[in-house]
Amino acid sequence: MGSSPCDDASLPPQPHVLLFPFMSKGHTIPLLYLARLLLRRGVAVTVITTPSNRPFIAQSLQPSSGAAIIDLPFPETLPGIPAGGSGVESVDNLPSISLFFNFAMATQLLQPHFERLLHSLLPRVTFLVSDGFLWWTLDSASKFGIPRFVFFGMSNYIHVVLEEVFNNNDGPQTHNDELVSLTPFPWIRLCKDDLECLVLRSHTKTSTEFRKKVGSATANSYGMIVNSFYELEPLFIDYWNTEYSAPRTWCIGPLCLDQKVQYSKPKQASWTQWLDQKLEDKCCVLYVAFGSQAEVSAEQVREIASGLEESKVNFLWVVRKKSEWEVVEGIEERVKERGMIVREWVDQREILMHESVEGFLSHCGWNSVLESVCAGVPILGFPLMAEQPLNARMVEEELKVGLRVEVEGGLVRKEELEKKVRELMEGEKGKEARKKVKELAAMAEKAVEEGGSSWCTLETLIHETC
Ligand code: UDP
Ligand code: UDP
Repeated sequence: MGSSPCDDASLPPQPHVLLFPFMSKGHTIPLLYLARLLLRRGVAVTVITTPSNRPFIAQSLQPSSGAAIIDLPFPETLPGIPAGGSGVESVDNLPSISLFFNFAMATQLLQPHFERLLHSLLPRVTFLVSDGFLWWTLDSASKFGIPRFVFFGMSNYIHVVLEEVFNNNDGPQTHNDELVSLTPFPWIRLCKDDLECLVLRSHTKTSTEFRKKVGSATANSYGMIVNSFYELEPLFIDYWNTEYSAPRTWCIGPLCLDQKVQYSKPKQASWTQWLDQKLEDKCCVLYVAFGSQAEVSAEQVREIASGLEESKVNFLWVVRKKSEWEVVEGIEERVKERGMIVREWVDQREILMHESVEGFLSHCGWNSVLESVCAGVPILGFPLMAEQPLNARMVEEELKVGLRVEVEGGLVRKEELEKKVRELMEGEKGKEARKKVKELAAMAEKAVEEGGSSWCTLETLIHETC
């Protein structure tokens, strides 16, 4: 042995990248796209996960991809998670999302296993990409001299807004309903609801400690990989890289444009046939989905159902939570051929790419926003939690690729939904958003092609770290 692979001038070293996603589908999917991108560039890839998250990863990557998957044993019971939640290895399966911070803190129990792995893993690891929530992986990587890139499934816009609100000011000044504007971007005027889910809702000891750890590990990481592309938000990317000292942002997306390997999809999915029929009938469809995590109250689901019914548009609605099934019971019979409810995991990218889909009623998780942009489908933002209200603001105000619903007394009323759905599908604003989103879709394609901005950034990243 003697020399490390990088020292041997006669043999080009094969870089080896470790990917460590956080345990939820929304956080894992973009890193699996990244795995495939790296593999195609001749990089060896190892994905770190836990036993019950393995099947989803293995199925998405497919054995022929050449990626290695290693599970770290996850404890049966987690501190702070009630007995009913024991054995939970994913945020998506928590008995309540309010246990998020306990779960996230408990991931640190994986650290000794992770370090044993780093000690023995060959070929030598070139760099680690780990989710921002796995803050403790920075310490582990540093012990072994491995650069760590942090990954948050968020735009640069959100990173800049969070930094301006929380780190460059004395905390959020949104204790009343007044709008607060950001000094460097005076047109961005935030209200209480934009930030409520992010911070105000939880200031327990655990959540405060967690945020501190995540913030500090982020700041001390080698770089930040962002699932976005330069042409989408140049202002915020340049601002981040010139105004803040660390870590540098590397935009290598949209990762979902990786088309080479498809998910194993049921070819004859009932919704695909339904969409094909709509296309044949020359009907436009509104796709309705709220991601993999968010909880929607029964009252809200009822308002959405009535709003969709009244809007008279064609809709394909993914209702994933069992608790919501009862509420939507009967709607298909009432709207006849106009609506379809799907109760299982779908290939969202495929649906958005379907030619009949002309609008997306979305919770505005960042993956969903990007997938919609790439498919050239305008968005009606219906944010539910976390940074989604800010994503929805970005969609409407910065990117101008959609609209947002207004909340009234904690609910989006059916009348509001009906009005905005019509505006998106038939109105002037929808038309403008559709034009803009198609332009961005073309730019996204260019960014990931050989020689495009994201393609070059990934190339530089690989070469700089080896
Ligand atoms: N997704 C999917 N099928 C489903 C539900 C979700 O493929 O039935 C995918 C969706 O395409 C996206 C991810 O799951 O890539 C959800 O991520 P997002 O950031 O939009 O929201 P989150 O689930 O994290 O709230
Ligand atoms: N965070 C950070 N930089 C970022 C994004 C997030 O330091 O660019 C930290 C920040 O401290 C934030 C924490 O991660 O409060 C949790 O992120 P998020 O708001 O997504 O969590 P949520 O409130 O949705 O559970």
